[in-house]
Amino acid sequence: MPQSSGIPTGMNHDRLSPSEPPHENEASVSRRSFLRSAGGALAATGLSAAALAQQTKPNQQDAVDLPPLHAATEGPEKTPAPSESQPQRTGYAVVGLGHLSLGEILPAFGKSKYSRVTALVSGDRAKAEKVAGQYGIKSTSIYDYRNYEQLAQNPDVQAIYIVLPNSMHAEYTERGAKIGKHILCEKPMATSARDCERMIAACKSANVKLMIAYRQQYEPNNREIVSLRKAGKLGALKSFVASNSQDQGDPDQWRQKLALAGGGCLPDVGVYCLNAARFLSGEEPSEVTAFTYQPKEDPRFREVEESCTFMLRFPSGFLATCNSGYGAHKTQFMRLEGDRQWAEMSPSFAYRGLRLRVNRVEDGRTVLVEPSIEEKDQFALEMDHFSLCVQGNLQPHTPGEEGLQDQRVTDAIYESARTGKTVRIAPPSGPTRGPEPQEQS
Ligand code: NAD
Repeated sequence: MPQSSGIPTGMNHDRLSPSEPPHENEASVSRRSFLRSAGGALAATGLSAAALAQQTKPNQQDAVDLPPLHAATEGPEKTPAPSESQPQRTGYAVVGLGHLSLGEILPAFGKSKYSRVTALVSGDRAKAEKVAGQYGIKSTSIYDYRNYEQLAQNPDVQAIYIVLPNSMHAEYTERGAKIGKHILCEKPMATSARDCERMIAACKSANVKLMIAYRQQYEPNNREIVSLRKAGKLGALKSFVASNSQDQGDPDQWRQKLALAGGGCLPDVGVYCLNAARFLSGEEPSEVTAFTYQPKEDPRFREVEESCTFMLRFPSGFLATCNSGYGAHKTQFMRLEGDRQWAEMSPSFAYRGLRLRVNRVEDGRTVLVEPSIEEKDQFALEMDHFSLCVQGNLQPHTPGEEGLQDQRVTDAIYESARTGKTVRIAPPSGPTRGPEPQEQS
């Protein structure tokens, strides 16, 4: 789905998705019988046996010895122990077991290189037990929202991945930082600039890292556009056009509650257009003009807007026009136009299947090039970037300051829509992004 897109509507926050196979509480069964019974579920989630072995720290006494394959005259083959030749993996507690965690984040650990899931935080113990069984997480590493601080005593957890409704991000970041854990927090960072600032301050004072999970900034097609821009191939940037819309279902879900979501389509899906306009151009907007539409007679939009269109002006003369919606058929595209080339993605913003095309003139002829770029799991890339930052004490590429700047622009967008006036946006007080992420194989 698009961030939230693709998410089935009519959801129940405390239910596993119907596609998940039913499980007994498997935390108490032996590792071997667990492997036998959970094999199908592991395959379905993309978690390899090697990844599982890594997560469960296999007991050597339980190791399987096979008879020698070769004659005694042949030298024995050295088989690495499960713990050998494996990169170091940062252990994560995933907080909130909703659609994104179950559908994307937990499976992505199976594709990651430097990250593993070692704990779960959920208000629903039975659901958490089932998920723990699927992913080889100890049942003693399941927590709820009240005993969250007990994560402090879990040596397998170095980082916390917050995947809760938007307005809860600030509280769980502050509480997580206070117990000394590094924080990876879903977008949007929070629902007010004040909360974003609190989160940054809490992580600074606890000396832990804070990264906002802007997966598209780690995605190879987006990285390619940034490279083209940095190499000057696009020429002078002129305009950016983007749309990210989906048709919402259940009017009772938290996304339609102002206090939990902080807005409607804008903070949920429009933020992808906003963030892309900023990071693809490498510039910061100085003014915004915006319109929202909120048909209150539709039960989905009693509290939040259905549509939001905003235009950003950048000091260089670059302009961005962005559209987001909660009532339109799913639309995901963007185009960055320079005076020498343009690059467009349709679809863009999605988890998979992104398609990049670049248009330029070669030998007097206009050509449309589709670069061949290998698809990679965006969540695995993003988590691995954060894990390497934690392991190497490096600054994340998308720290809290990046989320704060999006929130400041979001506030200006709402102000413009409310007042019908163009609103000026102060430049950020310093850089909002850390060093470019390293390519990961
Ligand atoms: P969801 O509703 O499916 O899951 C939310 C989880 O929070 C559920 O497990 C729910 O039980 C729990 N929860 C705890 N307290 C709650 C409360 N008071 N009200 C409602 N739920 C409560 O939502 P989701 O789609 O998983 O989204 C979670 C976060 O992830 C949001 O911040 C969203 O913006 C973000 N997200 C990001 C992407 C992306 O591509 N990066 C995609 C989807 C969602």
